[in-house]
Amino acid sequence: MTDDILHRAETTHTLRSAEIIHLLTLPDAVALFAAADRVRKKFVGDGVYLRALIEFSNYCKNNCLYCGIRAGNSHVHRYRLTPEEIVRTARQAVSYGYKTVVLQSGEDVWFDADKLCHIIREIKKLDVAVTLSIGEKTREEYAAYRTAGADRYLLRIETTDKMLYEKLDPGMRWDNRVRCLYDLKELGYEVGSGSLVGLPGQTMESLANDLLFFQKLPVDMAGIGPFIPHPQTPLAQEKTDGHFELALKMMAVMRLLLPDINIPATTAMETLHPQGRLVALQAGANVVMPNTTDTEFRPFYELYPGKICVGDNAAKCRGCVEQKINSIGRHVDPGKGFHGDYLKGK
Ligand code: SAH
Repeated sequence: MTDDILHRAETTHTLRSAEIIHLLTLPDAVALFAAADRVRKKFVGDGVYLRALIEFSNYCKNNCLYCGIRAGNSHVHRYRLTPEEIVRTARQAVSYGYKTVVLQSGEDVWFDADKLCHIIREIKKLDVAVTLSIGEKTREEYAAYRTAGADRYLLRIETTDKMLYEKLDPGMRWDNRVRCLYDLKELGYEVGSGSLVGLPGQTMESLANDLLFFQKLPVDMAGIGPFIPHPQTPLAQEKTDGHFELALKMMAVMRLLLPDINIPATTAMETLHPQGRLVALQAGANVVMPNTTDTEFRPFYELYPGKICVGDNAAKCRGCVEQKINSIGRHVDPGKGFHGDYLKGK
């Protein structure tokens, strides 16, 4: 049965919910990972796209129960880079050879559209792709960033289980998050989404729905992160057992369903497994997002505990990641890495 499902997924890239659940609950997923790796190689090649991540502010007006930088966590030392510091950090990332800069933060209202557009325009002068990951905004704001030059937007749906989402993200509406994703698509962004895996109360059915949701949109990119409880949040007592394996299976099935999208090997995976990103790169992933935030600020952008490379600097992370990628017979692709670039090059 597994062989049949895998064969069909690999050739037609279509699965029903029950079949996805079958794959997600496999006790031994070696064949699934191998199929995802073949599809990755065929559709996006051996190149790995690097994205320079700049965590520019940990101020956040939201109160997501799982997140370490939630507004309600009074233990967080809050920091905010100035626009000049953000552009300087981006320039440094570009000097290390990065072709995409990802600007990520909590939902920090200090950065209004004018400030963000200024930052985007300055970074665009460096001839790189700009990705934003700054949460839910109005359509007008998304339009303004796009006009300023932003190319991509990352907004994880976190979970497609609406009730669970609204329980874990108090005050936020699931419908609004979906609205954001469709607005971003219509405005011509490359859209990245993704899920957290292992949330309390999350079912296999809802995980299968997440994948079908990404396929329906469709996303250009999606990141799957294992949920890692943060001690200063209401979910502090939750466990991480099995989250890495389940996240890896989700990612592999996603590669089968969306064969040519960009899929990152997420930082949270490496937090739960010492070689997590390399394992992910061999089970469907083709993107890595090394941290380029100044070392001084890294400890404070603590979404979850045990985040890797917190004591490192951008130069070290760049070198280390490339070495790891080369160690598994893959290489860093020097391009900007838009969705479909690999196939266009064929
Ligand atoms: N404010 C932005 C960026 C959020 S931080 C936004 O709303 O999109 C980026 C991602 O970190 C989140 O989308 C979430 O999936 C992940 N994250 C947050 N808390 C986490 C935790 N405890 N474990 C693992 N990942 C977490």
